[in-house]
Amino acid sequence: MRWESWMSILWVLVSACSCIPAILSGSADTLCIRAAFAALPLTGLMNGGAASTRTKKTILVDMDNTLVDWEESFNRHMKIHHPEVPLLQPHQRQQWHHAKDFPPEHFDTVEAITGVAGFWRTMRPNDYGIEAVKEMLSEGHDVFLVSAPDPNCTDLCAYEKVQWVVDQLGVEWKQRLILTRDKTLIRGDILFDDKPTVVDGLMEPIWRHVFFTQPYNKRFDDRPRIDKWQDWRRALDEASVEKGG
Ligand SMILES: [Mg+2]
Repeated sequence: MRWESWMSILWVLVSACSCIPAILSGSADTLCIRAAFAALPLTGLMNGGAASTRTKKTILVDMDNTLVDWEESFNRHMKIHHPEVPLLQPHQRQQWHHAKDFPPEHFDTVEAITGVAGFWRTMRPNDYGIEAVKEMLSEGHDVFLVSAPDPNCTDLCAYEKVQWVVDQLGVEWKQRLILTRDKTLIRGDILFDDKPTVVDGLMEPIWRHVFFTQPYNKRFDDRPRIDKWQDWRRALDEASVEKGG
């Protein structure tokens, strides 16, 4: 049995003992006992406390080019508003900052396209992404969407990201959206993200970074990755083993 389980049992015993004076005086209600047992991680005990990697985790999920097909929205809006700019093929996408992959004369045009109304709200989910985050939640994990608003259009971007979450996942998911430019400030067990430098920030990340594969992050082999959302459980198991469960 894992040490967390032994600690939980000890907590229940201590909490139950604290109820004895109230019980003897006849003033006890069941709340104190229920509160004690509420702290018990039943999942861990029900599986024998084995080194399960499926105990409850806090899973952080990036949006752009991870949960969401940012690239499709970019290409679609560029075709509409700037058909004169040749689009890039996937193998030409070598840098996370997309504008840097374009010739310098198109840099400003490419940067500005994300400020077009609808750019963020009309993005399509990546295949099986919606199903995956709902599976995470239904299997008992805490799930948060952690996304960085585009600094070129912060207000529009933030507003439309909220709308996207409501459209695609439902209004109850709004409370699971965290907008920040520095994801190292956020606590969690694992972060699915396409950005190689997401680990750089004010704090040392306590989460394990797992790449969602994109052409510009394929050259990094220092972190685990998934190529498709159907593989999220495997990545969670592997990251959990690395962190000691
Ligand atoms: Mg991203």
